[in-house]
Amino acid sequence: MKPVSESSPTVHIGLPWQNHFHQLGPDFFSPLAPQPLGAPYWVGRSEAVADMLGLDRTHFQSDTVLQALAGNLPISGTKPLASVYSGHQFGNWAGQLGDGRAILLGEANGLEVQLKGSGLTPYSRMGDGRAVLRSSIREFLCSEAMHGLGIPTTRALCVTGSDDEVWRETPETSAVVTRVATSFIRFGHFEHFAARNQLAQLRALADYCLARYYPACHTTPGSSGNAYAGMLQCVAKRTAVMVAHWQAVGFCHGVMNTDNMSILGLTMDYGPFQFLDAYDPGHICNHTDHGGRYAFGRQPAIAHWNLYALAQALMPLIEDQQLALDALASFKTTFEQQSHQLMCAKLGLLDVLADTTATPATEPHAQTLQDQALLSKLLALMAKDRVDYTIFWRRLSQCRASGDHSTVRDLFLDRPAFDSWMLQYSERIAHINQGLSANLMLKINPKYVLRNYLGEIAIQAAKLKNFAVVADLLGILERPCDEHPESEAWAGFPPDWAADIAISCSS
Ligand code: AMP
Ligand code: MG
Repeated sequence: MKPVSESSPTVHIGLPWQNHFHQLGPDFFSPLAPQPLGAPYWVGRSEAVADMLGLDRTHFQSDTVLQALAGNLPISGTKPLASVYSGHQFGNWAGQLGDGRAILLGEANGLEVQLKGSGLTPYSRMGDGRAVLRSSIREFLCSEAMHGLGIPTTRALCVTGSDDEVWRETPETSAVVTRVATSFIRFGHFEHFAARNQLAQLRALADYCLARYYPACHTTPGSSGNAYAGMLQCVAKRTAVMVAHWQAVGFCHGVMNTDNMSILGLTMDYGPFQFLDAYDPGHICNHTDHGGRYAFGRQPAIAHWNLYALAQALMPLIEDQQLALDALASFKTTFEQQSHQLMCAKLGLLDVLADTTATPATEPHAQTLQDQALLSKLLALMAKDRVDYTIFWRRLSQCRASGDHSTVRDLFLDRPAFDSWMLQYSERIAHINQGLSANLMLKINPKYVLRNYLGEIAIQAAKLKNFAVVADLLGILERPCDEHPESEAWAGFPPDWAADIAISCSS
């Protein structure tokens, strides 16, 4: 591990660096430089993220910038560090974890920039500090795919690869993902200081988040002016919104440990994630999750569990248990409301979206209950017949435009049950403007999601130094609801071999 040297020659990459996290002080991190990566090359680059960050796109042609983002040249103005956090893994307290292979460079234009896979840190434990090419490509593409789907997420600027070998189950090559987010602070950062009874540090971290990300929390309704309870409520709501989106799009995160939960409600730490092929609430995408703790249908309950762990950590600051419980309760109401809105949008129920009174009233009105019943019936049918989740919604949207439901019907084995559902649905939408409704559905039900097999095709090509597939997929996933006629095949059913792809935590 190399300490940060004040005297090394540095390169400028044209970003106005600030180092706010660094100002929290040494209890929160270890300063250190990234470990060099041998002879790096570009694997993937996002111009959209470069623009967001204020990085000149032409830097993507620069060898100096390539070297800098691979961790080989210190960047002027940065104060690289690895932060310390703890967390609950698979429901058990895991103690200290920390950035074992990610280094925070600093912050530019309000966005933190991290190099993931950039070598050993004091928190690497048994790991080697590296990330393999396949997991780096998956994280890069999925970050941008989630953003394209309108789902809160950390972003990814680029992947730099190297022929440097690392050992997982077999020898593989390494890569670095440059990740970008307003903050990479996790629930586990709070758990860390609470578990050690370091209350001054806990308060400093909470005050840092309040000042920077949740300045309005002092006045959050229902938190009686208790800023920490107010912040917990805001985190609960953002987490609820995020998970409601996951469920609506069929995204399974796979490792919802508290150290992978963002304090800003961003999807983060992409590992064994998967977009559902067949709809199955019991689907487990992480092959090391033997008990199915993180199965698709359990994600909302797990998010709530994780928020309890955060609340527990914040209790010395909140002090009032009822305020904490009230803050946590907002998870459920926000999740239900957001989920209802998203699923009704997927069904094209414009009237629900226009009805701003459809908030979580104590007595949901009759239409809401009927819509929920319509949706439950549909999801039960889809689960029974293992209907492809993405293709179903896209075809339903197209059928809404054409008025012919045969291609949706073809997806079901139990046709009489489907016909009965379709009859109910047709009655429900009879008075809703067909053109507007179809338009909305085609904008919310993606044609393209990053199915495991698509990631796999990009990975296999990249292993042969063909990075065009990564670029092509990125272009499509940035606009997943648009038609991309040249890539029609990528919107189809997964091939048979997709069933054999096994993704574990090992990355
Ligand atoms: P994850 O399951 O990827 O969220 O990682 C859990 C913890 O293990 C975090 O503290 C990571 O930084 C650490 N970790 C994962 N992979 C490695 C690795 N190859 N080297 C060092 N630390 C790692
Ligand atoms: Mg993690």
